[in-house]
Amino acid sequence: MDKQNRKAVIAGNWKMNKTATEGAALIDELIPAVAGAGCEVVICTPYTTLVTAVEKCKGTNIHVGAENVHFEKSGAFTGEISADMLVDLGVEYVITGHSERRQYFAETDETVNKRTLAGLNAGLKVIVCVGENLAQREQGVTEELVRLQTKIALQGVTAEQMANVIIAYEPVWAIGTGRTATAEQAQEVCAAIRKVVGELYGEAVAKATTIQYGGSMNDGNAAELLGKPDVDGGLIGGAALKADKFAAIVKAATEG
Ligand code: PEP
Repeated sequence: MDKQNRKAVIAGNWKMNKTATEGAALIDELIPAVAGAGCEVVICTPYTTLVTAVEKCKGTNIHVGAENVHFEKSGAFTGEISADMLVDLGVEYVITGHSERRQYFAETDETVNKRTLAGLNAGLKVIVCVGENLAQREQGVTEELVRLQTKIALQGVTAEQMANVIIAYEPVWAIGTGRTATAEQAQEVCAAIRKVVGELYGEAVAKATTIQYGGSMNDGNAAELLGKPDVDGGLIGGAALKADKFAAIVKAATEG
């Protein structure tokens, strides 16, 4: 019931794939493929594709996001990009806390929180990623860990700002591995995340918050995952690089 009142969001995370030229070609395929979708459609592209993506997606139902953002407004942070820079380009979304950022670029819950706040304060919609690795799942600490990651990521975020927050549950063991969480596992953890949002912000905010699943979601498993009551959308890596596969997931979200 509550699910009908939440926005389903299917977001592609292109990671470090596609030159701007290749990205433009993919967007040309995507535009007709997802036109008329009944869910929010987002593509998060490498920084180098953002200008092209924003230009091409103008007047379409595709929203453009970045894959990361730095927490300072400006200054001596060589190689980094600020939230204001993204907003100035017409970018609407940003991902924070992706497990690849945590794993390979030493991101911590604290820096994820700072990036989340920077994005929100600049007016971006933020997709905050949380999720356990395989050892943590096997140790039985998934729920505690995801609760902790969620709480720290949201430190200082106001109830009003929660309207611009999406939380993506992404079990690390399922990302890019072809090994998907079962729909039951996804539902269990997404429900636990909604519970912690409720504890922090109250029932109304919890019911209104979009919670995605991410981790090898594809055209074959999307309908089952998205059919679960607390799974409001998906963050899609590999399958976002093929227009037909991404469009099939968008269709599943539209129908689910
Ligand atoms: C991701 O990058 O967030 C992701 C879920 O990747 P994949 O769909 O390839 O597992």
